[in-house]
Amino acid sequence: MRFVHDALPMRVVFGPGRLAELGEEVERLGLTRVLVLGTPEQEATLQRAADGLGGRAAGVFAGARQHVPVEVAGAAADRARELDADGCVVVGGGSSVGLGKAVALRHGLPVVAVPTTYAGSEMTPIWGLTEDGVKRTGRDRAVLPRSVVYDPELTVSLPVGLSVTSGLNAVAHAVEGLWAPDGTPITAVMAEEGARALLAALPVIVETPDDLDARSGALQGAWLCGAVLGATTMSLHHKLCHVLGGSFDLPHAETHAVVLPHVVAHNGPAAPAAAAALGRALGVGPDPDTVAKALAARARDLGAPTSLAALGMPADGLPRVVEQVLAAPYANPAPVTRESLMGLLEAAF
Ligand code: NAD
Repeated sequence: MRFVHDALPMRVVFGPGRLAELGEEVERLGLTRVLVLGTPEQEATLQRAADGLGGRAAGVFAGARQHVPVEVAGAAADRARELDADGCVVVGGGSSVGLGKAVALRHGLPVVAVPTTYAGSEMTPIWGLTEDGVKRTGRDRAVLPRSVVYDPELTVSLPVGLSVTSGLNAVAHAVEGLWAPDGTPITAVMAEEGARALLAALPVIVETPDDLDARSGALQGAWLCGAVLGATTMSLHHKLCHVLGGSFDLPHAETHAVVLPHVVAHNGPAAPAAAAALGRALGVGPDPDTVAKALAARARDLGAPTSLAALGMPADGLPRVVEQVLAAPYANPAPVTRESLMGLLEAAF
C-alpha cells in the first residue's frame, strides 16, 4: 500500500447548546468585529448568534443564496469592508458557508462556521462562485474555516425532507471518498463511520425530528463526511451532480439523493472494497449489486425523491449532460462510456 495523507487543520467544538460558546471561539481567534452571514430564511438565527457575540458582532448580512452568485459575494464583501470587519461568522448550510468562503477569498478574513445542514462545506477548502449561470470552483486553504461550532440544537428546525436529502448528500461525499484515487486508511475510516452515523440517524429523524441524540449522530456523520470531501478527489457522482445542478438549476441536496444509488450501481463492481464498506454502513453484505439496491431502498424508505424528472429535469436535457460529463476528465473507478452514462442517467430520470 502507498499513500500520502495530508491532513487539513481542523478545530471542532461539538455539542447541544454550543452556540452559546461562539463568543469564546471568536475571542480565541482575536477577532473583535465580525460580520455574521447567512440566508434570509435564517435571519432570526443569525440575529441570535450576533446577540450572543455582543460587542464582537459588527453587523448581520442575511443575503446568502444557493451557489454563491458573484453579486451576492460582492455585496457581502463590500459590507465587510464598510463595517471594517476583521472576520466572518457563518451560520447555515452550504450556501451560507460558501458566502463566507467568498468573502475570505476576497479579503482574507478568517471564518468561523456554525453549520446547520449536513452539506459539510465547513470542512473543505473548496470555494464556488456563480457568474452568468456558470459556477467556478477552486481550492484554497485560506477559505477553510478556522473553527467550526456544531450545535445539534440548531439542526432541529431543518425540515425532515431537507434533513434526508442533505444527509444523503453527505453520504455521497463518503462514498466517493471510499473509491477516491487519493483516499487513505484515515479517510476510509472517516467515510465508513460518517456514512454509518448518518444512515443510522436519518430514520430516527424522519420519525422524531427533534430527537437530539439522532440530530447529534447525524451532525457527527456530516462532519466526518465533510472532512472526507475536503481530503479526497471526488469522481463521477459529484461531476454529474455539478453538471445537473449547474445546467438545469436542480436543487443541490435532492440531486445528490437521486443520483447516488445509480452511481453506486455503476461503480460498485469496479470498487469492491468501497462497496463492502458502504454495505457495512448499511448493514448488508459486500455484494455491490446488493449494496446499491439497499441504498436505493433506504433512500426511498426515508422519503427522498427518486427521479430527476420529479426535480424538474427536462427529458431532452440528458444528452447535454452526457456530453458535458464526457468532456471533462476526472478520476473514476469504472470506465465511463457514452452508453453507460446514458443508461445511468435514463435510470435516474
Ligand atoms: P443551503 O445552504 O442552500 O440551505 C437550504 C435551505 O435550508 C436554505 O433556505 C436555508 O436557509 C435553510 N436551512 C439551512 N439550515 C436550516 C435549519 N437548521 N433550519 C431551517 N432551515 C435551514 O443547502 P445546503 O444543501 O446545505 O448547501 C447547498 C450549497 O452548498 C450548494 O451551493 C453546494 O454547491 C454547496 N456545497 C459546497 C461544498 C464545498 O465544499 N464547497 C460542500 C457541500 C455543499
